[in-house]
Amino acid sequence: MSTPERSPDPVTPPAGWAPDSWRRRPALQMPQYPDPAALEAVLAELRRLPPLVTSWEILALKRQLAEAQEGRRFLLQGGDCAESFSDCESGLITNRLKVLLQMSLVLVHGLRLPVVRVGRFAGQYAKPRSADTEARGGVTLPSYRGDVINRPEFTAEARVPDPRLMVKAHARSAMTMNFVRALVDGGFADLHHPEYWNLGWMQHSSLAAEYQRMVDSIGDAVRFMETLSGTEVHNLNRVDFYTSHEALLLYYEEALTREVPRQYGWFNLGTHFPWIGMRTAALDGAHVEYLRGVRNPVAVKVGPSVQPDQLLRLIDVLNPDDEPGRLTLIHRMGAAQIAQKLPPLLEAVRREGRRVLWVCDPMHGNTESTANGFKTRRFENILAEVEQSFDLHAAAGTRLGGVHLELTGEDVTECTGGARELKDADLERAYRSTVDPRLNYEQSLEIAMAIVRKRGQ
Ligand code: PEP
Ligand code: MN
Repeated sequence: MSTPERSPDPVTPPAGWAPDSWRRRPALQMPQYPDPAALEAVLAELRRLPPLVTSWEILALKRQLAEAQEGRRFLLQGGDCAESFSDCESGLITNRLKVLLQMSLVLVHGLRLPVVRVGRFAGQYAKPRSADTEARGGVTLPSYRGDVINRPEFTAEARVPDPRLMVKAHARSAMTMNFVRALVDGGFADLHHPEYWNLGWMQHSSLAAEYQRMVDSIGDAVRFMETLSGTEVHNLNRVDFYTSHEALLLYYEEALTREVPRQYGWFNLGTHFPWIGMRTAALDGAHVEYLRGVRNPVAVKVGPSVQPDQLLRLIDVLNPDDEPGRLTLIHRMGAAQIAQKLPPLLEAVRREGRRVLWVCDPMHGNTESTANGFKTRRFENILAEVEQSFDLHAAAGTRLGGVHLELTGEDVTECTGGARELKDADLERAYRSTVDPRLNYEQSLEIAMAIVRKRGQ
């Protein structure tokens, strides 16, 4: 990705921090493993396994995020709500990569800005739950918490947390990462060949013509530059792709937190860009404690209950030195609440002159249940939250620097609306998510086009 370099100054971990100092804080959403000795044996094994990413990739991403903070890049972060072990499969991985590449092409073309591409993949295996238990037909069992913790089948045995699943998650993450790296390095992401990213059912889409016009116009621009310079433009042959996941299962994150030669401090080498979710962002909690000491760029989800002073204290803990690229705040308010809840936060951060990257997650505040029993999100609410975000930032004198989306490259029916006007009755046709509803391929592309339209106003 880029060449190794030594940090200019020694970076000492913050006072009192160690990879395991989170264990002395209240840790929400964590499993209780029935056999502590089995847990420690797994952690010892994980600590010896090779990491999934490198410190210099992490620092390169941090520089790109710093540029996004200054308005010189736009962040596209997306992928499944939760990966599953059974979905670690070549077709699903390539299709997800294709849709992210197509969206980034739309954004690059329309915004005239380089895009930072970050997947919610290669480690997105742990889920926070609103309830600890789940009842079905008179039986109550512990909730499913993601493939790295327990199994989704509704049996008592499947729901017991199993530490061995962490070793399997590490292996599946490595396989995913390896395949993505091979595709990207092998030329799959080459801007000379956007036809590699076409998905089978795209030709039937009403968006196909608009997308094709962008591809043709980029093709013309590339050929024009190459004619001018007389050579092929090589930096278009490949793109950077980074990984992210929710740092929820802190045992796993701790085992992948390493010191590396020629760099100072500690890095989470299980992902480039860990984030903590809305339910685990308490200031004195274990998750904030863990995140404050790693040198990765980090993100926090910010929900409607967060107060301005609380947010400022969180910024103090996670980025005391105002380091560029270090901290991303992902707001997820819901279309109905954002106009009321976001401005006081933007105003407080702007007033204090704190350096953050603001990103909109228009998915998690817009989840609802349909009368026919599906968890869904309505495309018009997702779009409305993105559009309002741009306006609210403009009014506050801050900048929306990216979006965070749950999406898939498959033709699923999980969110309603969009160009095909999916109705509640369509949801049963291809509802595959075991957790949150995702944008399908076409709805994802539509959001990218809508962002371009909005920014162009
Ligand atoms: C998620 O990103 O899947 C999630 C659970 O988000 P949040 O913490 O914002 O609810
Ligand atoms: Mn989710």
